[in-house]
Amino acid sequence: MLRTHTCGQLRLADSGKRVTLSGWVQRVRDKGGMIWIDLRDRYGITQLIFDESKTDAALIEKVRSLGREYVITAGGIVVERFSKNDKIATGEIEIVVDDLQVLNASKVPPFTIEDDTDGGEELRMKYRYLDLRRTPVRKNLELRHKMMQETRRYLDGQQFIEVETPVLIKSTPEGARDFVVPSRIHEGEFYALPQSPQTFKQLLMVSGYDRYFQIVKCFRDEDLRADRQPEFTQIDCEMSFVDQEDILNTFEGLIRHLFQSVMQVDIGEVQRMTYDEAMRLYGNDKPDIRFGMQFCEITELTKGKGFQVFDSAELVVGICAKGLAGYTRKQLDELTEFVKRPQIGAKGLVYVRYQEDGNLKSSVDKFYAEDDLKKWAATMQAEPGDLILIMAGETRATQSALSELRLKLGNDLNLRDRKQYKALWVLDFPLLEWDEESQRFHAMHHPFTSPRKDQMHLLDSDPGAVKANAYDMVINGVEVGGGSIRIYDRGIQQKMFNCLGFTEEEARNQFGFLMEAFEYGAPPHGGIAYGFDRLCALFGGSDSIRDFIAFPKNNSGRDVMIDSPSPISNEQLKELHLDVVKSK
Ligand code: ASP
Repeated sequence: MLRTHTCGQLRLADSGKRVTLSGWVQRVRDKGGMIWIDLRDRYGITQLIFDESKTDAALIEKVRSLGREYVITAGGIVVERFSKNDKIATGEIEIVVDDLQVLNASKVPPFTIEDDTDGGEELRMKYRYLDLRRTPVRKNLELRHKMMQETRRYLDGQQFIEVETPVLIKSTPEGARDFVVPSRIHEGEFYALPQSPQTFKQLLMVSGYDRYFQIVKCFRDEDLRADRQPEFTQIDCEMSFVDQEDILNTFEGLIRHLFQSVMQVDIGEVQRMTYDEAMRLYGNDKPDIRFGMQFCEITELTKGKGFQVFDSAELVVGICAKGLAGYTRKQLDELTEFVKRPQIGAKGLVYVRYQEDGNLKSSVDKFYAEDDLKKWAATMQAEPGDLILIMAGETRATQSALSELRLKLGNDLNLRDRKQYKALWVLDFPLLEWDEESQRFHAMHHPFTSPRKDQMHLLDSDPGAVKANAYDMVINGVEVGGGSIRIYDRGIQQKMFNCLGFTEEEARNQFGFLMEAFEYGAPPHGGIAYGFDRLCALFGGSDSIRDFIAFPKNNSGRDVMIDSPSPISNEQLKELHLDVVKSK
């Protein structure tokens, strides 16, 4: 053994012991007669001390030859430290070293391996193995590990069985594009990497494994967006003989357990809200309910006064910002600029100041008398001192823009406290979504989601109105998971594929195996998948999932450390029957 203890282990009570430690040289401080080394490993930092007057000259020479990140083994005696460091757990002791071996030298690292490093993102990603030595990054991975263990502990305790499903599969349409893998043996044919194990977990239900889970990598070839990873991890789960209530309770239990065991936080009641309510009150299907500022519709109240923007609008809707009537012209202009940014795309913003003196002043005074404004204010339960912000236009676009404004105000006013957690189930999502471009319906969740029982009859007459037996869990405005009760009847599944514009033959080609399985005694079932990386980021108090992935891809989907994706050789291309593709 190259060590008797780790660098995070020794305490005052160990004084006098002879120990051997191994690790990386974080820092050498050479004050002439005295030299100190901070020796680091995964567990912490221990100070080594060399007193030149009492130490062998050859050893001192060796110490002076050390550089940052050298790997060494040091043997010596634990002693009480003269000036203690209460910032580290080993801060009361140091090691008087009489024996030191260099196990390996190191080049000077391209950035400092410290909590606050001087390395930029790109450089740290290129040398991610060095970045991973830094305590904050290591802590994130430790958190991830703990979350994994606690997930397994909870689900195992509930009789869930962890089953691995294949990674080389056939395409499952879940909204995104598949990554495909060419087959060498079967010319012209391809595997797809799973966007999720959806069909496999349903087949496991048919097989009678009535409680399944898997912490599993999923792959989606989606357009690049900040903090989106082409491969990510889900806690994927499925249960048989359950209804929606059972699923919500079981998986609310998982989240509760994770918060309790990992963070010692009781998240309290998990609220519930329908999709329609979420859209009406927050303009968003993943509302942050840590703060109010709910939407209030005033479409009818605004009509017929000659203000073209409101008159022609499908929706006129506002929020009441408590106590902000004193916002200056400049501040209001900034809010207007914010909603006009191309990412939000609104045409403008109307405001009403409910002044402390009880008068109402608006940016549309030309069209509306104070009595009109009073009616709006009453509907919105605004009081003197409040600021009303109103947007108008086509329903969805207006909701989405006002939702962005609400979140911005939430940030500006510090209403989105990172230390506070509010979990919410959003229920009764629409089953289908109309896509203008392709002029057909898409499954809002995925094609295996069951309509609610009471909506089944609408499937033929008005499919767009059908509500699904689907649910999302949202924490602090982040969608952390989603799932549904599934279709388990061949006929209904067929009907669903029809609604989605599949011909019978297309459905059979792609999903014949699932529909056939439904004919061999498929139990009623349903499930959920949590986005594991996102949960970790939420628990770690960060917006970036990358910080919680050991070897992430960058924002353009590249791994800059191993340099991937990359071209392959002509021989490989030929073997894969892809030689028509020009190699770079
Ligand atoms: N497979 C779904 C997803 O990845 C989750 C589910 O329905 O269980 O979003």
